[in-house]
Amino acid sequence: MAVEKTLSIIKPDATRRNLTGKINARFEENGLKIVGQRRLRLTKEQAERFYEVHKERPFYGELVEFMTSGPVVVQVLQGEDAVALNRKIMGDTNPANAAEGTIRRDFAESIEANSVHGSDSLGNAEKEIHFFFSDTEIFE
Ligand code: ADP
Ligand code: MG
Repeated sequence: MAVEKTLSIIKPDATRRNLTGKINARFEENGLKIVGQRRLRLTKEQAERFYEVHKERPFYGELVEFMTSGPVVVQVLQGEDAVALNRKIMGDTNPANAAEGTIRRDFAESIEANSVHGSDSLGNAEKEIHFFFSDTEIFE
C-alpha cells in the first residue's frame, strides 16, 4: 500500500440536504485527509466533460442535469490506498446494494442521486484531480 490521492465530489443531493460536514466526517474517521476542497456549481459543459466516459449510457443526459442542479463540493482526499479506501467508504453505486455504514447506504436518495463521486483508479484519480485543482490548491 502507498499513500495516494483521489478525487471526491459531494453531489447536489447531499449539499442540498446540508450533509457536507457529516460526509466529511466519514472520510476523516476512516483515515482520509481532505487536502483540497472547493464548493462550486458545475456548468453543463463541465459536467458533460467530467462524465464523458458515460456518454453512451442511457442515463448520461439525466446525470448531467442532476450534477448541475445545485452546488457540489470537489475535494482531494489523501491517505494509504486512498482510491480503493474511498470507494469502500462510499459503498456501491446503488444504495440498495451498498454495505451498512457506507455513505451511500446512509445518505443516498437513489442510484443517480447517490451523494458522492469517487475516482475508480489511480490513473483516473490523477486526471480527475487535475480537472478541478492545480497543485497550488492542494496542501498536505
Ligand atoms: P460510480 O459513481 O459508483 O463509479 P458509475 O461510474 O457507474 O458509478 O456511474 C457514475 C454515476 O452515474 C453514478 O454515481 C450515478 O450518479 C449515475 N448512475 C450510474 N448508474 C445509473 C443508473 N442506472 N441510472 C441512473 N444514474 C446512474
Ligand atoms: Mg465511476
